[in-house]
Amino acid sequence: MRKKLGQLLIEFKIITSEQLAEAMADQRRTGERLGSILIKKGYVTEEDLEYLLSRQLAVPAINLSKYQVPRELVELVSERFMKKNYVVPVERDEKTLTVAMANPQDYRVIDELRFMTGLRVAPVVSSMYGIKQKLRELFPKSEKWEDALDLKAQRELEIITPQEFQRAVEENLEDALESASEAPIVKIVNSVLLAALDKKATHVHIVPEESAVQVKLRVNSHLETLVTPPKEYAQNIVNRLKILSGMDILQRRLPQEGYFRVRSEDQFYDVDVATFPVRNGEQVVLTFQQPFSKEELRLENLGMTPEMLETYRRVIAAERGLVLVVGPPDSGKTSTIYASLNALKSPHRVTFTYENPIKNRLADINQAEPNERAGLTFAQGLKSLVKQDLDYLMVGEVPTTEVLSTVVEAALGRTLVFARMVFNNTLGVVPHVLEQGVAPFMLYSALAAVLGQRLVRRLCPECLESFDPPEPVKEELRRATGRENPHLYRAVGCRACGGTGYRGRIGVFELLVPDDEMRQLILGGASAQELAEAARANGFRTLIEDGLTKAVDGMTTYEEVRSIK
Ligand SMILES: [Zn+2]
Repeated sequence: MRKKLGQLLIEFKIITSEQLAEAMADQRRTGERLGSILIKKGYVTEEDLEYLLSRQLAVPAINLSKYQVPRELVELVSERFMKKNYVVPVERDEKTLTVAMANPQDYRVIDELRFMTGLRVAPVVSSMYGIKQKLRELFPKSEKWEDALDLKAQRELEIITPQEFQRAVEENLEDALESASEAPIVKIVNSVLLAALDKKATHVHIVPEESAVQVKLRVNSHLETLVTPPKEYAQNIVNRLKILSGMDILQRRLPQEGYFRVRSEDQFYDVDVATFPVRNGEQVVLTFQQPFSKEELRLENLGMTPEMLETYRRVIAAERGLVLVVGPPDSGKTSTIYASLNALKSPHRVTFTYENPIKNRLADINQAEPNERAGLTFAQGLKSLVKQDLDYLMVGEVPTTEVLSTVVEAALGRTLVFARMVFNNTLGVVPHVLEQGVAPFMLYSALAAVLGQRLVRRLCPECLESFDPPEPVKEELRRATGRENPHLYRAVGCRACGGTGYRGRIGVFELLVPDDEMRQLILGGASAQELAEAARANGFRTLIEDGLTKAVDGMTTYEEVRSIK
């Protein structure tokens, strides 16, 4: 059995047991690696740790800076793989490839290497610092714009264009089609799509400028430049995307919308495409919908506190009623509703989603979309669908008063309806619905709950760092969370989170479940302000309060919560 790192450090008299206890207490609090904590506290050096890691793991250690890595090994393993997994091949003989790794127990990486090279893989341990240095030395940054893309390693990527893209060949169209299908353009666009998938980007922006075209990715809500090709490429990149999404490539003066679907590594992703004419050409924004996940979305993974989750489960256990899920675009509303339907679905119930278009395929749930080309509008389709004896229904948007009244009527019948609405003010949605012409007595009996939500970036649990906030902030946190001695956490950055300090996003919620008094207020056409006061008296917690609780619990940062609009 291998010895624990802490024990070894004490055995070698590098640290005292008091120092170990102190570091382990920190580890429990922050979830950070023991080694990193000890280095930060100055109790051990990087070299000590490398030596001991090697002892602990019973794997030899090497000092990478003393090794020359042969080019053929780099080609064998590929730059992409080395950078992605932080591994450096150092030697090979007939049957064995020796590879330096920061974590020589990462069996997934070892298996992949063995599969890729057909060689036995012998890991040796090196510090992450040493590996990063070596990678920088092997792959110095160059000035060519293409280098930001991995054009050589064209991983499998299949693009499925909408079937309706069957268009007569017009004049000029042929030329435009041809240049947009040229190999370099196809590769550039594919590489951009792959980079977006790798980085789990939600959007890609193609922005034409005077002398170049900016290709940017939005990752965890933040926009970063991926690559800046010269402007000669601009129109062809745009044309390629227009072809993929079934748009008219000769129409450059009006905005267009379309979508295509990509498959990579057995995951499907829908990509919405929207063009917009700007001064230097056309801007294109791609929106990646969540993949058709094999793993189901579950209520307990959305980020609700246990108390709220319990209340919400009680709300959706109702036989009928209206649950309004509100927030700005990209605030996680669809995920919440999908998770709700997944929790409710059963062979004895009829469950439907109705969206334009269907965003994600859900297992064991019926899904429908309008077909405007065939003359079936969103409103008409919904009117017919609600006559199909439904138990649970998701309505993807409520664009008109006609749709809204269909939704409310269904909720008054025998269907539990989840309606997704783009609206920033959770309580304000009630007067808004009344202003749309829904009779107060109908909403009075239909409304089961209003769930308002936003997404904030989730702190990487591997590298977050706690700190003591200044007193005024502490006071604010005490009031919002009821904790006596609240701490906050900051983003640091490590391998697990690609150096950003964040991993994914979680929901921040506020849930209004109207009681009798509030129903009376709705009946009387109360304002958002009056509703808010009644809700407060009834224990309603605001988005900010919910968010600050998550900040104090180390799930996100104070800044993320404070940037909620
Ligand atoms: Zn991290």
